Amino acid sequence: MEISRVGVLGAGVMGNGIAQVFAQAGYDVVMRDIEDRFVEGGMKRIEKNLNRSVEKNRFTAEEKAAVLSRIKGTTKMEDLKDMDFIIEAVIENLDIKKKVYSELEELCKKEIIFASNTSSISITQLAATTSKPDKFIGMHFFNPVPVMKLVEVIRGIATSDETTQTVVALSQKLGKTPVEVNDYPGFVSNRVLMPMINEAIYCLMEGVGTKEAIDEVMKLGMNHPMGPLALADLIGLDTCLHIMEVLYCGFGDPKYRPCPLLKKMVNAGYLGRKTSKGFYDY
Ligand code: NAD
Repeated sequence: MEISRVGVLGAGVMGNGIAQVFAQAGYDVVMRDIEDRFVEGGMKRIEKNLNRSVEKNRFTAEEKAAVLSRIKGTTKMEDLKDMDFIIEAVIENLDIKKKVYSELEELCKKEIIFASNTSSISITQLAATTSKPDKFIGMHFFNPVPVMKLVEVIRGIATSDETTQTVVALSQKLGKTPVEVNDYPGFVSNRVLMPMINEAIYCLMEGVGTKEAIDEVMKLGMNHPMGPLALADLIGLDTCLHIMEVLYCGFGDPKYRPCPLLKKMVNAGYLGRKTSKGFYDY
């Protein structure tokens, strides 16, 4: 299927990055959020990123202007009615996402493909709330979107081969590397990453090592660019806890139980970088 017009729902951390990479690849993009201040915040973030690319000679000023001219920010849902493809990056809340898809179905043409950037909600479950689950897929970008190469392409139980091929090709056109996976809790990325972070927190709780020691072992021994505790602070400890709970409930397997120290930190409001305090102080 030919895609030229792309809708992005949500202008937050992920939404504005996704809008930017589509516009850089030549697509006309409509980025929708619920209030002007969020749309403006997203547009400002994109401009700031592009300015940095111009300073580093990755883009000319003309290319920057062309990318910006391809992105229309809006609060109106109707502006998405002629899109060929829509990716949703609204907050991680099942009810809000469901409402967004039901509004879109009323509005959009029947061939439309819907993708979700969710990091923890079942693609199969989201797809089942629409009338065309074969045209629904997970397209999981990583933060910061303009920099990170991976797109985890997640097939729900009913996602068609055609939808998958379209989204794989689309990801390649963005200069990304798509990796196809099936829909199980945490997909591959968070299923492997979060238990590692959770285990690092157990090591800290049990006194196996100091936070510095645990991070240093993983950096120097495993060649990770960042230790797991520093990474948890970057991701947000509330997000880490939420994803561990998704794994724990989704598989019903005690190996995914969230570490009590992680719960304690979240209860204390120590959420990592965003609250200036997590395993480290910021
Ligand atoms: P965010 O809070 O920065 O942005 C979400 C935006 O959605 C907000 O601006 C909010 O106003 C907007 N929104 C809420 N309801 C809306 C609606 N009905 N229509 C349009 N916009 C609406 O969140 P984020 O970090 O960008 O996360 C978005 C999605 O991406 C979530 O599903 C999250 O799980 C996923 N994700 C996040 C990351 C990350 O590192 N932050 C990584 C991968 C995936």
